[in-house]
This record gives sequence, C-alpha cells and structure tokens, in this order.
Amino acid sequence: MTAAPKMCFDRILPRDVLRPQLTTTGPNGTTRAISPRGKSWLNGSNLRVRFMGGSAAEQATAREQALWWADYANLTFDFGNAPDAEIRVSFDTNDGAWSFVGTDSRQMPPNQATMNLGFLDGGTAGHEFGHAIGLAHEHSSPAGGIQWDEPVVLAALAGPPNFWDEATTRHNVFFKYSLDQIHGTAFDPDSIMLYAFPASWTTNGVATHANDILSALDKEFVAGAKMYPKSGPSPSKATVLAVGADRAKADIGKSGEEDLFRFTTDQDGVYQIDTRGQTDVYMKLFGPNSQTALIDEDDDSGYGLNPRISAQLLAGDYYVQIRHYDRSGTGTYSIAVKKR
Ligand SMILES: [Zn+2]
Repeated sequence: MTAAPKMCFDRILPRDVLRPQLTTTGPNGTTRAISPRGKSWLNGSNLRVRFMGGSAAEQATAREQALWWADYANLTFDFGNAPDAEIRVSFDTNDGAWSFVGTDSRQMPPNQATMNLGFLDGGTAGHEFGHAIGLAHEHSSPAGGIQWDEPVVLAALAGPPNFWDEATTRHNVFFKYSLDQIHGTAFDPDSIMLYAFPASWTTNGVATHANDILSALDKEFVAGAKMYPKSGPSPSKATVLAVGADRAKADIGKSGEEDLFRFTTDQDGVYQIDTRGQTDVYMKLFGPNSQTALIDEDDDSGYGLNPRISAQLLAGDYYVQIRHYDRSGTGTYSIAVKKR
C-alpha cells in the first residue's frame, strides 16, 4: 500500500460553517476556483509577509510561488518581514502545510503564524498562498462531483504522513461549501487548489492528479471581477465620502464590478455606513488606517436588501468595499456615512 498524499489542512473559522444557508442562485457564472464569501482582501492590496524561520532556500521558494499569483491578481507582496504583516509564515516540519483563508488571517494574534509550510513539495507554497489570498480547496466545491468512499479515506488519512482523526478528515475532505458560500461554479481538475486523490478514495472512480502550477482557470479567476482585477479600483483611487454629507450616487455598472470608497473620522465614536436603493449590494468595512483589517461585513441589515454597518470607530481612515450580492448583478445605489 502506498502512503497517502500529504494533505493541506483547511483552516476555516467556525463561523463559516455555522453561517446560515441562503437560497442559492443558479450556476450562471463562467469562472471557477472557489473563494468563500467575504474572505478576499481589498482589490489592489499590498500584503506584507513575515517569515518566522525557514532556511534561505525555503524562503526563496515561498517568495517565488507567492508571486505566481501576483502575476495575475491585482495584489502585491512585500517580503519585508514587518512585525504586523498580514501573512506570517512558519516552517514547522511537524505541523504539515496549512493557511488561513484571506482576511481570516487578521483574526490571529500577530505573534502567531497564519501559514505553515511544513513541506515544500511541488507547488505547496503556491497552494498555501492561494489560501492566503482567499481561495478555498477545489475539492470543497459543490460542483466537484466527487463521491468519497468514506471508510477508505478515513483509514488512509489516519496513517502517515497525516495522522488525522475522523473529525479532522470530515472537516477537511468531506466538508463542502454550499453554493452561496463560494464564488466559483464549475469544478477545475487542474487547479493548484486541488490535491491528488487516488480513484480508490471515491465510489464513482474519480481520481485527481497533483497540480503544481496555476491552471488557466486559477489565473482567470483571481484576475476576474470577483477577486482581483487589475482594471479595478485600487485603494489609492477610492471615492472619498465626507462624514455627514448628502448621500453619494454610485453604480455597479458591470457584472462583478467592485466600488471602493474611503472616509476619514476625526474623532472616536459610533459611525453608520449604509446604502439605499433597489440594488442588492454587499458591504465590507476596513480600517482604521489599514486596507487589510476587516472590521465588519454586511448584506441586508439596512432598508430592504441594503447593507448597513454601525461600528465604534477610532479617528482614522477607513475603506468601504461594495459589490453586488449576485455574480451577474448590476444597478445603482446611494451610500452615506454619518456619525451617530
Ligand atoms: Zn489547502
């Protein structure tokens, strides 16, 4: 019997598993790669990376493979080892390979790693940096059509090199996102976010092969409107909102378009940001003085289908990202921020 493949542990925060299921919209998109909702960084972000150990060669491999994504996504990486870097990489050979997904990394204390590269076979670092920019496991796609032979998989992963208990395997392999939790729609067998499984692990004879480079669809997805289009607005080009000013008119003019706003609070207090109109938009608030620190996100707390976020904010600069809730949706809306 051959050893099971080395598996990546999918670090998903419990709240995602508990998030209530919403009605799904039909699979009408054309892109794949799966990205849990609400995990992507602001388009145009500069993500700082700190290495916590690792040899020069290991760090070089991690850098090189991280940059695979930057070739296509509108993201930059700064490997300057900033103490409060968004992505903190350890190289503990006893802890496998794993990464938090996208903005979840910000919820970890700054003295803890957000990614571990316990091995660096093939495209492992590229795969983990895929998680770090917000991608989930391709085998978690509900469109995958993989029917696990559960006893076989549980037995294989209980042994070396993974030594996973049943709960771990269930969470990490059998768990699938519901369609409303992901952005992708079709299964991509060539994705770097897929691991190799032998056909004996499935009851329907599906086998997958290891993918050590980005697939065409990986590149297309991260460059696309739902993730990090290079044509999209960068934080430096965000539309400025004045606190207390009249509502500003805005427009999701193209499918998948992202609107970006910024505002400055000159004193601490409770602030409310909301949209109005018939367009079902989704809001994320970042700050203070950070494009990567997610404060809150909201879908429908305001009037009708409009988002509203009320938060105790320190004096500083804040960013508001607005996207349509549906992959293909467009429409007009207005937005305002006021102090309460
Ligand atoms: Zn993984």
